[in-house]
Amino acid sequence: MSIALGSLIEQFEKRWPLASAVAWDAPGLVTGSLTQSISRVLLTVDVTAAIVAEAIEGEFDLVLAHHPFLLRPVNNLTEHSAKGNVVSSLIKNNIALYSAHTNADASLSGTTATLAKAIGISDLKGFDAQGSIGTDLSAALGQAQSMSLGEIAANLASVLPQTASSVRVAGSFDQIVNKVALVAGAGDSFADAAYQLGAELFISSDLRHHVVLELLERAKAAGREFGVIDISHWAAEWLWLEVAASELASENSDLTFQVCDVRTDVWDFVVNPSGNQAGLA
Ligand SMILES: [Zn+2]
Repeated sequence: MSIALGSLIEQFEKRWPLASAVAWDAPGLVTGSLTQSISRVLLTVDVTAAIVAEAIEGEFDLVLAHHPFLLRPVNNLTEHSAKGNVVSSLIKNNIALYSAHTNADASLSGTTATLAKAIGISDLKGFDAQGSIGTDLSAALGQAQSMSLGEIAANLASVLPQTASSVRVAGSFDQIVNKVALVAGAGDSFADAAYQLGAELFISSDLRHHVVLELLERAKAAGREFGVIDISHWAAEWLWLEVAASELASENSDLTFQVCDVRTDVWDFVVNPSGNQAGLA
């Protein structure tokens, strides 16, 4: 069985309204025709040459990606450029590409909400970078029910797919945590609001040195216990794919929604001081 791409996109946009995307974002259809038939959908965080090869090999009709593939302007799409090669491979193989990004983050079962649920953080409330509380769950405050910082980090390590940099923690292992702020994607810009809103722990990905150092120093100066956990951007958002796939499958039982397990976390290994490789092989 199959469905017209246009009808499937209507479902996507009811679930993840384009109006919920932030101004700089570019979600929506990248390649394909609204009238083409879709029966097999491959869900992925990123779009790379390896993922397109997987889509061709698995005879998928649509790649549903989290990150927009053409977010930044390009001047050409020649086949010897990385972007052009991906786009022309998709078009030649009649594979449509669609992305649901910050509009999907915002939803009740989006990337941050999924991450929170996976590690037992409940009672979510959205917040924005200015510190206002709202319903957009791209960034969320929740309750951890007195778990220790070490326990929360261990939970993250067990639910996230394995990556070289794994789970990095600032703070004391035994610190008891109740109020947690989470942002599954790159959360630097929410760090200050998380602190201001009284979180005892901030969990996010792609956190920069100066942002984290300033938070830790502010907390020390204020005599406040504050932990930070930095996780892989890909791993954090990959968890959401399973949720999106099962929601879409329940609405379209005759179509296939498969989560792509190709790792697009950019780091392949870390080394210890003796030069031995640690983490991923
Ligand atoms: Zn992301």
